[in-house]
Amino acid sequence: MTKEIKKIGVFTSGGDAPGMNAAVRAVVRTAKYYDIGVAAIYQGYKGMVEGNIQPLSTRSVANIIQRGGTVLKTARSEEFRNRDGRMQAYENLKDQKIDACIVIGGDGSYTGANIFTSEYDIPFIGLPGTIDNDIYGTDLTIGFDTAVNTAMEAIDKIRDTGSSHDRLFFIEVMGRHAGYIALHTGIGAGASTIFIPETVTPIEKLIEKLNRSSKSNKLFNMVVVAEGNENGDAMTIAKKVKEHYGYEARVTILGHLQRGGSPTSVDRVLATRLGYSAVKCLVEGDRNIALGIINDKLEKTSFADAISKKKDINKDLLDMANILSL
Ligand code: ATP
Repeated sequence: MTKEIKKIGVFTSGGDAPGMNAAVRAVVRTAKYYDIGVAAIYQGYKGMVEGNIQPLSTRSVANIIQRGGTVLKTARSEEFRNRDGRMQAYENLKDQKIDACIVIGGDGSYTGANIFTSEYDIPFIGLPGTIDNDIYGTDLTIGFDTAVNTAMEAIDKIRDTGSSHDRLFFIEVMGRHAGYIALHTGIGAGASTIFIPETVTPIEKLIEKLNRSSKSNKLFNMVVVAEGNENGDAMTIAKKVKEHYGYEARVTILGHLQRGGSPTSVDRVLATRLGYSAVKCLVEGDRNIALGIINDKLEKTSFADAISKKKDINKDLLDMANILSL
């Protein structure tokens, strides 16, 4: 028999992502429906170790569904990586009579959950909250769609000025290990070339394209660069292109603006479904799993698989982008 859940702790962890608030709201309201109490653990594992835990009422999550960032705050916690820190976290959860936790974060947060649940008897449910979309077991992560739309709109504005002057632009987007943001933003914004960490695109390929462009009088070119691609960041590539091939380029690094903003409907619906499902899963007896949506259906994955398995990027999309940019 699984232990009945009377009180849930909810927290956001790792990088913030638009839609996290919608997930928290759904957790609190669904818990209320099942007569389960909810406590906020502020600043992720840091707050768990430090005991920064407060009750959350259904009213306290009013008016947050549309807000970016996370009202529960987020932080990195070195202490939680150590046994002593996790023991302190466990004692704090016990003091607060928390029976289960819902963590909204990326693979680092899932790793913490996996280790903690192997040591202690408080079960966790994981929700994929990261703009990078690099989590196995879900088609989309909470925050990805908003980040792509934000980056795409910024690029649209750069396109207006870039095409007026016939310029070459490099736009750097987030993605140290994953190219989802770059790939989707690049396709949506009509980029000529997209550099992502998952594949090597030699700079010479870009040069061939630029040479062809100038012959056919296409003088404006937009290149989207994921920060972690093999050729280096946007500044480095632009420098190489200028020094070795004589093409002058403007560089824009979108940086943190990609994290902010009101979540799109896709992120709000995804986050709401996942927050609701997390509580329902706990009520129905599921323990220590990560949730996702694949082909419009709820998917349950073990933390071990969610952490170790890789979600493959669709390289056909990159081929398509190359063909369309000719
Ligand atoms: P994002 O994808 O946005 O970076 P993330 O969840 O991967 O999100 P991390 O900073 O990697 O973000 O991890 C969040 C927190 O999870 C860390 O600060 C740490 O407290 C905990 N954590 C990560 N790895 C471990 C680990 N090996 N052991 C225990 N805790 C961990």
